[in-house]
Amino acid sequence: MKIFSILALSLCFFSPCYSADETVDPISINMVYMADYNLPSITAQGIKEIVRSAQDEFNRKFGTNDFKFIFLGEKPVNFFFKNNLKTRDPYYQELSRKKLKFFSKKIDYQPYQEEVVRFLKQWKLWDLKNFFPKETQDKINTYEDLLPFLYEEYAAKVRILENLKQKNRKFLIDRRFNLQNSYVNWKAAMYFQKDYDIVICNTIIMYDDFTQPYPHAVLRYAKVGGSSFLSPHRPAFDGTSAMINLFEMLTDIPYFKVNYNKKKMPKNIWNDLLGRYIMAHEMGHMIYLIPDVYNHPEGCLMDSSVQNLDYYDGYQILIKYPVKCPKCEPYVQARLHHFKADQLFKKNDFENACYEYKLTKKMTPEDIDGSYASYMSLLNFKMAKCQIKLKNNELAESYLTEAIKLDPENKEAKALLNSMKK
Ligand SMILES: [Zn+2]
Ligand SMILES: [Zn+2]
Repeated sequence: MKIFSILALSLCFFSPCYSADETVDPISINMVYMADYNLPSITAQGIKEIVRSAQDEFNRKFGTNDFKFIFLGEKPVNFFFKNNLKTRDPYYQELSRKKLKFFSKKIDYQPYQEEVVRFLKQWKLWDLKNFFPKETQDKINTYEDLLPFLYEEYAAKVRILENLKQKNRKFLIDRRFNLQNSYVNWKAAMYFQKDYDIVICNTIIMYDDFTQPYPHAVLRYAKVGGSSFLSPHRPAFDGTSAMINLFEMLTDIPYFKVNYNKKKMPKNIWNDLLGRYIMAHEMGHMIYLIPDVYNHPEGCLMDSSVQNLDYYDGYQILIKYPVKCPKCEPYVQARLHHFKADQLFKKNDFENACYEYKLTKKMTPEDIDGSYASYMSLLNFKMAKCQIKLKNNELAESYLTEAIKLDPENKEAKALLNSMKK
């Protein structure tokens, strides 16, 4: 196993909404490379290049902010799953209910139809129809109409993945040791782990959460190129994290390479593409809570629409438009007030911290990546903590009550309210 030396990269750009005397301390981001030794890997230098490009793109598209990347080296991916996948935990049990069983030959989505339609309604039907050929589009008038087409294509993509072989004639997805090949397993392991904000990895990850069929994932290869996750043990961004997957750029399996070969994509841009198109995008989810969007202007880092199905095409659009996306801006601005509030709290300026949390609540768009109610609950909890420091216990209690109403799972808010009532 190669261990990379610890490398700390920092990016120092400040938001225009901060005056010089209010500079924000850098937020540290713990990063690791999880290696699957059965698949093509990357060098430490390659990782450095990816991170550098991601930082540059992130700054080009969002301006702002100050992060310190701390690289914790390379670890074997199977150890990560051995140590962090708690299969008996209720959280995993709940997730695995909606997990597509590998090698089962069909996707039985009908019992979950209502849930799936609710999920798809976050996007306009028109934007979803765009993923299909014209003759299919003519048959789709409702979200329900869309499902048979979506799942037929999804199942076909899954079957291909399950049967692909590498050059050494081994199956791409091992018949027995495949914990790291499941997206649902990643979701669970990232939830339980305590060490990393960003994981870079080279394994193949099948998109097997069949009740949340993201069109750009299931209609492409039914694999995951990157994702944001909940990691409640990670304090940097109040429990969000991200994974960047290198598989597609590193593999030599022709199925994934046909388009790139046709377009003669030069190999020397791979790391730049991974940094700009994949890593910076996932950072957009993790840091600014921007969801995958299908209706933002061209060049938006968070755009997941049909013209972006190919990484190379998407990358070229990003490069072509080095401008900030006006539709992403409200997410960024709202989140900056949150970071500012956290800083003020640390500096014991509780009055202004509470004001900034309130502003964040008002400014945050409702369709964030993740649960809006949980996020509002978190902000209420933080406002309550300010009020306790200011000795306004009555107000603090009302914030906590609101926090619990918004998210009955907010354990910290419950514990704090209970301790106040004693
Ligand atoms: Zn995304
Ligand atoms: Zn945008």
